[in-house]
Order: sequence, then structure tokens, then C-alpha cells
Amino acid sequence: MAIQVGPDRYIDTLAPGVFANHSCAPNAGVRNDRDLVALRDIPPGEEIRYDYSTTMDEKSFTMVCRCGAPGCRQVVTDFADLPAAIQDFYLSQRLVMSFIARRLHSTRAASTGEQAAADRGLKRGARTEPASSVTERGLQKKGLRINQSCAMQI
Ligand SMILES: [Zn+2]
Repeated sequence: MAIQVGPDRYIDTLAPGVFANHSCAPNAGVRNDRDLVALRDIPPGEEIRYDYSTTMDEKSFTMVCRCGAPGCRQVVTDFADLPAAIQDFYLSQRLVMSFIARRLHSTRAASTGEQAAADRGLKRGARTEPASSVTERGLQKKGLRINQSCAMQI
């Protein structure tokens, strides 16, 4: 079995990792890009399973999942496609390939920056609109007119 360790880089796994299968409720995970670690005690005879999505950034490959776990996602896909709560769990456990974690952090940072800019725009717009209306009404009561082009720059 090959495991993705970079955008275009894969490595062949050794035993026991080569025998590990996928589960949406795994008992193991991949840490430090190549260490298969147990997430809990695994009794003899139990299959070692990790969440393949923690190592996937394929952009095209998906796999039907029949792991049988409660909450099975039914499809194994890229880490970026997982619900945020599941992403956060794996990230907090350091069970995500580093190239995927870095990309996700930069995507989230960009998204957060865009959202913050949008929030500032909304707040500015929300603050400007009533203020200019009040100001305009106040000025009109005094028989004055506000310069609309200047009001938009506030
Ligand atoms: Zn599943």
C-alpha cells in the first residue's frame, strides 16, 4: 500500500502499516508523516485501522466506505472535504500529513482574513449608513445638504 506524503509524493508502507485498513472511527493514526500510532489499546486480533482521509489530498480519488462504524461517512475522500469538527480532532491529535495540515492552515487563514475583511466592510457599512442618514437628516433639518460622494467614503 502506498501512502501520500506530499502533493505528488507517495511512499510504500512497511508492516504493520501495509496491512492497515481504513475506518471512519479508527483505532490508529499516522503521526509525523510516517509513524503508525495506536489511538487506544488494540486487543490481539483486532484489525488496525486509520482514517485514510488524514493522508489524502488527491483532488480526484474517492473510495466507498463500508467500515460499519457509527457515523461512517460512506465515502473516503480528501482531508479538506471532511467536516471541520473531524478535521480539528485529527489536527489536535497530530494525525494529519504535514503537507495537508499546512495547506489547510493557510486556506483557513486566508478564509479568516477574507471573513475579517468582510466583517469590517459590513460593520463599516452598518455604521456608515445609519450615521450618514442621521447626519443627513440632521443637516436637512438645518436646511443643509450632505455631499453624497464624501458620505460614501466614511
Ligand atoms: Zn466508514
